[in-house]
Formats: sequence, structure tokens, C-alpha cells
Amino acid sequence: MSKSLRLHEKYGAAPTMPICFLCGESKGEVVLLGAAWRSQLRPPPQHMCIDYEPCVNCQSMMEQGVMLVKVRDGSNEKNPDRMGAIIVVKDEFVKDCFIEEVADDLIENRAAFIPEEAWRQLGLEEFEVKNMQTEQEEEDETS
Ligand SMILES: [Zn+2]
Repeated sequence: MSKSLRLHEKYGAAPTMPICFLCGESKGEVVLLGAAWRSQLRPPPQHMCIDYEPCVNCQSMMEQGVMLVKVRDGSNEKNPDRMGAIIVVKDEFVKDCFIEEVADDLIENRAAFIPEEAWRQLGLEEFEVKNMQTEQEEEDETS
């Protein structure tokens, strides 16, 4: 593979900052798309999901358990609207909450996007609130 970059005829190096496809956070890198950026109408967005390689944070969460990422109902399946809530659950939780086929997939993939409605049905909102409360309690103790 050549290391030189073929420039985009209109947008030159066409830089973008890759984001993690799971958590949607920036990976802290810049990628020069050059001619690989196909659009002639607009430059690449500042942040873009360019591959399915999880970021360092997500990799460590996936080692601890199965990562569930809350996404907006009805948003694009490939690039859903992430809502900022992520919960890591044990394999046993997945086996209890999902039918076998789905559970096996989740355990193998170590991560899944969960739409709001399913998130509610799984009772995950409760964990979200609990997490927020413990953070607040910690703050109170230090002040
Ligand atoms: Zn990530």
C-alpha cells in the first residue's frame, strides 16, 4: 500500500477526525481522506465514523462485560443516534434478558446498540439514574 495520499480535487487532503462507532467519542486522531472522500458538494464532516474498530475506552469496557449503548428509537441502524448512556453488563444479565439467539450474538460481539424503548423495557434506565445519583453523592461528600 502506498503511503502517499491522492488529494481530493476540490477539498485537498480532506481531513476528518474519526469517532468510535460504539460510543461516538472522538478517537483523538486525524485522518486524511483525500480522494477517498467522494462528494464534490461538501467537504467531509469534522467528525466521522470511518471504521468499526472500537476506541480504547470501549475496548476496555468490552473486556469487562457486554456494552449496551442507548440509541434513539428509529434512528439509522448503521449509524444510530447515540444518547450518551452506556452500561456494561455481565454475560448472565444478557442471558436472562434476551432470547438465546440474540444473547449468543451479544456475548460474542461484546456490544450492542439498544433503542430507547427496549432500553426502558430492560429496566436499564434505573441503572442510569443510580449511576448519576452516586456521582452526586460523591460530590456532596467532598464539599
Ligand atoms: Zn468508544
